[in-house]
Amino acid sequence: MPYEDIDVIAVAVAAGVAVAVAALSLFKKLLTPAATAVAAVILVAATVFTGYAGLALYAGAFLMSGILSFVGRKTRAEREAGIHKRTGTRGVVQVICNGLPALIFSAVWFSTGISSFYTAFVASLAAGFADSAASDMGILSRCTARSILTFRPVKRGLSGGVTPLGTLSAFLGAIFVAAVALPFGNGYGIVSFAVAFAAAFAGTLADSVLGASLQALYRCNECGELTEKEIHCGSPATLVRGARFMDNDLVNLISLLFAGAFAAAIAL
Ligand SMILES: [Zn+2]
Repeated sequence: MPYEDIDVIAVAVAAGVAVAVAALSLFKKLLTPAATAVAAVILVAATVFTGYAGLALYAGAFLMSGILSFVGRKTRAEREAGIHKRTGTRGVVQVICNGLPALIFSAVWFSTGISSFYTAFVASLAAGFADSAASDMGILSRCTARSILTFRPVKRGLSGGVTPLGTLSAFLGAIFVAAVALPFGNGYGIVSFAVAFAAAFAGTLADSVLGASLQALYRCNECGELTEKEIHCGSPATLVRGARFMDNDLVNLISLLFAGAFAAAIAL
């Protein structure tokens, strides 16, 4: 795809939307200032590579996850408090791990014109949104969370645990993003939609499997709770499962690359 294919007006609109979304996310404290800047750059770059599709998909997924994060916010905050490495405002690493995989696939599509990479781009973004919807909604579930690998009950909110509500949210989230791409053409039709959706859902399963196996899990030496934090109750917690470097951000990065690669492989 040569440079003449860049939709200059779409890129200008994206820059405007990026500024508006940045203002909103700073005001609502969704992202740190540095993470906001990175997110804005990713949004504009995606529009350079894919036109209005990139703008709609990134901005749509970001705004929808912003909205979902306000549903049951109080309950979620209580249940998340001791578990997650980072809560609340999202940082640079988190934004890169969630936003970069799709951007890479869109850049490959832009430079090669091979349509399966466009499907990979949509699948990766859909997987990211589906995963965050599953986490945000799953933790509100009234049901017991069970390990995706052993089916034994686990504390709600811990990575690798799945609930019916979380799984349904991932399913609907993947459909939502895969469907948003439909009106924009770029060779993406109903077959690509099915591939992107299936790969995105597979990506969220991969995320849970990694979360239940290789992701770092600690036990606090003070209160005895399982946690994804290295420090709990003010002292270092003991690693009980997984690898220390394998945190939630890295697991997300791997599963989003997997979702895209899986989609590209089917679509090829
Ligand atoms: Zn503790």
